[in-house]
Amino acid sequence: MKILVPVKRVVDYNVKIRVDKETNAVDLNNVKMSINPFDEIAVEEAIRIKEGGKCDEIVVVSLGPEQSKETIRNALAMGADRGIHVKTEHSPEPLLVAKVLAKIIEKESFDLIILGKQSIDDDCNQTGQMLSALLDCSIGTYASKIEIENDSFVVTREIDGGLQTIKLAKPAVLTTDLRLNEPRYASLPNIMKAKQKTIDEVDPADLQIEMQPKVVTKKVEEPPARIGGGKVESIEDLVDKLKNVSGVI
Ligand code: AMP
Repeated sequence: MKILVPVKRVVDYNVKIRVDKETNAVDLNNVKMSINPFDEIAVEEAIRIKEGGKCDEIVVVSLGPEQSKETIRNALAMGADRGIHVKTEHSPEPLLVAKVLAKIIEKESFDLIILGKQSIDDDCNQTGQMLSALLDCSIGTYASKIEIENDSFVVTREIDGGLQTIKLAKPAVLTTDLRLNEPRYASLPNIMKAKQKTIDEVDPADLQIEMQPKVVTKKVEEPPARIGGGKVESIEDLVDKLKNVSGVI
């Protein structure tokens, strides 16, 4: 079995986001970037499947600028076998990512594609769903448990009000939820070993995909600054403030 894990380079979840008013975009200057946390969970799950003897090769792929290779290397240091870097100026919108992934999957077939349920920078939660539509294959979103049964995947999904278990035929697209696993840290020997692993370069032009975005960002703004709280002496005081100061009742 071959597993493909798309990994995105995003602003680290600990970083306080700033907006660059000149470029009307999130300021990425001197900002710590990391692998998207849900993608780290996806890589971990693929490695666990391989350690369980049910996978022969794990390939990670990232679309983005040159630095996306660092993200690929992180995944290789965790235990993935090989990387593919699709060089683009920025990370493209979900439909374009899905189209590129579909082309890669067309070239070398994969039995399982595990994506994050969403990127923590754009919060789109779209790529996995679009990819399964393009591939016309089964999908299990928000997976919190994945089991392999012969030629199918038994997936527990986190849904509103509980858990749902579904059985999917191969090939399948899965997206990870937070509770699927706890990703491992890469050990120093594995970080060294990852330097020898192959990362193939792909130019989107060679895939005959028109990388023209369909979505234009019109404005990016920071949320309004929060005003500090205060203490009230009595319930009457509280009601008065809610009515006359914040105007919520
Ligand atoms: P999104 O639909 O943008 O919320 O992203 C969902 C998932 O798609 C991510 O968790 C990644 O697994 C994958 N993905 C999105 N953008 C990229 C990218 N530029 N490179 C590789 N994978 C990506």
